Amino acid sequence: MSFGIQSVTGKIQLGDLGRTLMHEHLLVGYAGWEADTVRPGLSRADMIKLCVDRIEELKAGGIDSMLDPCPSDLGRDVELIAEVAQRTGFQIICATGLYKEAEGGTAYWKFRSNFGPQVDAMAEIFIRELTEGVGDTGIRAGIIKVASGHGAITDYERTVLEAAAKASVATGAPITTHTDQGKLGDEQQAILTALGVPAHRIIIGHSCGTADHDYHMKIVRGGSYLGFDRFGLDLIQPDDLRVSSLAKVVQAGGAAQVVVSHDTVWCWRGQPIPDMGALSMVAPNWHPLHFTRNIAPRLREAGVTAEQIDMMMVDNPRRFFAGDVP
Ligand SMILES: [Zn+2]
Repeated sequence: MSFGIQSVTGKIQLGDLGRTLMHEHLLVGYAGWEADTVRPGLSRADMIKLCVDRIEELKAGGIDSMLDPCPSDLGRDVELIAEVAQRTGFQIICATGLYKEAEGGTAYWKFRSNFGPQVDAMAEIFIRELTEGVGDTGIRAGIIKVASGHGAITDYERTVLEAAAKASVATGAPITTHTDQGKLGDEQQAILTALGVPAHRIIIGHSCGTADHDYHMKIVRGGSYLGFDRFGLDLIQPDDLRVSSLAKVVQAGGAAQVVVSHDTVWCWRGQPIPDMGALSMVAPNWHPLHFTRNIAPRLREAGVTAEQIDMMMVDNPRRFFAGDVP
């Protein structure tokens, strides 16, 4: 079954995807932000303006498409994403799915689980959002997001993984993941593939959170994609390590299984970071054009070819969404 590439403004033809950032966020809101009525964040009009300006910057910087893998319980607003996409004529793919237990909207599911297992109820939502749309918006998700925190995959997170696998198998939709500290991605891959999701339909996100080459190659050999998707977030892991470990993956033959991005967040619900000014000081490169402007030249110096960089930005996202085997 071919799911195709479903953007917030309709199907994208494979050949039109172009240079694609595979993990950036227009808007994030941690569950519970509504309680902070003192610090609600920007107005909707201001958020849209900010996002439109940033997309225009991306277009001028040679980017054609973007995946915003915000799960349903992390302040996702598909109508805002669609409005920005319409105003800019830019292709944005949104997600269905649920975030990691520690930082997701888990209270609802935990309460419901008092009355029985919730895999089917979650899968029903994911399938509806992939095939018909989110609520009554008619805006369809193009991918399923799952996540794990650090230490171990919790029972809750395993439930979400099982529901995602069910929805992926039922619809043919691909899956992208969140990992903490570049760990447990191999376990995510094992759980999803055991439930019937083809490995090449999975991106193991934030794999650049570790420089562990064996971990990277285990996922590559298993047939999935590595997300080197936090360039510019030096406070989590220095870019030097991302560049050197990505160059190693490429040298080991893994270039066809890497996608790149920054995990930037353009607008926040509430004010989860009390001092945003300090953030821009400790992460001055946390910008969605950082890869093309600053990282690509450093990868070239590390022995990665221009063709391989293009492959990571153009061919790999296209092949991933097309469902072709790398
Ligand atoms: Zn993210």
